[in-house]
Amino acid sequence: MGYTKFKEMIRLSAKAVPAPEGEQEKWIDTIFTEQPYLANVYPGDTREIGIVFEIKSGSIEYFNLGVKPIFRENYVFGNARANINRGYRITENCIGCGACLAHCPQQCIEPGTPYRIEPTHCLHCGACSESCPSGAAERLAGGEKP
Ligand code: SF4
Ligand code: SF4
Repeated sequence: MGYTKFKEMIRLSAKAVPAPEGEQEKWIDTIFTEQPYLANVYPGDTREIGIVFEIKSGSIEYFNLGVKPIFRENYVFGNARANINRGYRITENCIGCGACLAHCPQQCIEPGTPYRIEPTHCLHCGACSESCPSGAAERLAGGEKP
């Protein structure tokens, strides 16, 4: 996970495995060429203590709190599958009262039948769910509080 000074968060989720034995030296040389300061940390042959790992598939979550409305998006690479089972959604139990929209700090809920949450601007804060009188705004199984 990494953060920027612009209030962005980037999280990479993936399984890392050691690169093939026959490729270790090549990758270590590449890493030391691209990051010359490492030669001061591991001078000479001491660089051989390192093990290079590789990832071939995974997912990336991008979350930006520095823009209004906030922005989040998920990406996948390799043969990983997108985890769309996060956050909140509004079900057919919605009676259209508008309470969720009034409580949503990002105003990312669109009126309709049923009302709809725009996931790219959702904080996952849960205010919609807590204010819904019919239990229609529900947390998805893989959801997480920020
Ligand atoms: S979880 Fe929070 S930000 Fe997302 S729709 Fe509900 S109230 Fe709005
Ligand atoms: S508070 Fe619940 S019932 Fe009311 S509009 Fe929102 S989702 Fe629908």
